[in-house]
Amino acid sequence: MQKYAIGVDIGGTGMQIAYIGENDGIIKKVQIPTEAKNGGADIIERLSIEIENLLDENIMGIGVGTAGQIDNEGVIRSCTANFKDWKGINLKTELETRFNLPAQIVNDVQAMSLGEMIYGYSYPNMISLALGTGVGGAIINNGKLYRGTNGSAGEMGHAVLVPFGKECPCGSQGCLETYLSGTAIEKRYLELSGEEKKGQIIFKQDDEYSKQVVDEFLDYLAIAVANIANTFAPDAVVLSGGVVGSLEPFMDDIRTRSLQFTLEANKEVKILRSNLLSDAMILGAASTIFTEV
Ligand SMILES: [Zn+2]
Repeated sequence: MQKYAIGVDIGGTGMQIAYIGENDGIIKKVQIPTEAKNGGADIIERLSIEIENLLDENIMGIGVGTAGQIDNEGVIRSCTANFKDWKGINLKTELETRFNLPAQIVNDVQAMSLGEMIYGYSYPNMISLALGTGVGGAIINNGKLYRGTNGSAGEMGHAVLVPFGKECPCGSQGCLETYLSGTAIEKRYLELSGEEKKGQIIFKQDDEYSKQVVDEFLDYLAIAVANIANTFAPDAVVLSGGVVGSLEPFMDDIRTRSLQFTLEANKEVKILRSNLLSDAMILGAASTIFTEV
């Protein structure tokens, strides 16, 4: 018999809540604004109304992918500043108490990687690097999400690339996120040229500043990919997030550059762009209910 769960994606601007079948995928989906500035209690209140509307007796549980670092008990340990009163909430207990159903809470990139494994590239050993407004990551190990002791494993965006480099929203300096995020690319262009330009435009332009920004970006990305390959020896490093839309013409270049830093044993690692549909996150979140994470 098919299993059913509610899958939830809580992003910086919007929340998606869906009724999901293990085989059928998304059966029904609603979308509402997150309104993160109104605080965690308000998010949970509005989210619960939508879950309630979708629930029926076939639902086995609620799987959530959310922004922030989530520990193995389902507590939000830290999050970006735009999420007011989100840190410290035990989202797992909140949902389990309200609905009397099991709930699983993972980070949004972890949810997306589970979606990637089930509905996209199905490599058992796969590392995700999500290049968006920030930089996130996740580790799929032997077909399972690797969460580490405290749940937050895979946050490669905050591996330091440059000692005492650019200041990162996480409080550290020189993190990969400060060189590889969409925001970082635009900031670097502004720094060099004095002009504001969207990331997609910078990747397409041929002027001296754009070339320099893209060249630096490709080197940093190549180092990040090689470090990941040497640390995890995965089947594939899968790049996702908003920046990846601009990377198609650069994939061979990224491979060539990263091979300079990759150990002989790991030179066969695949470097791929995610080809997932936008629903990967809720599908991945729901999968935490169908199979143990
Ligand atoms: Zn950081």
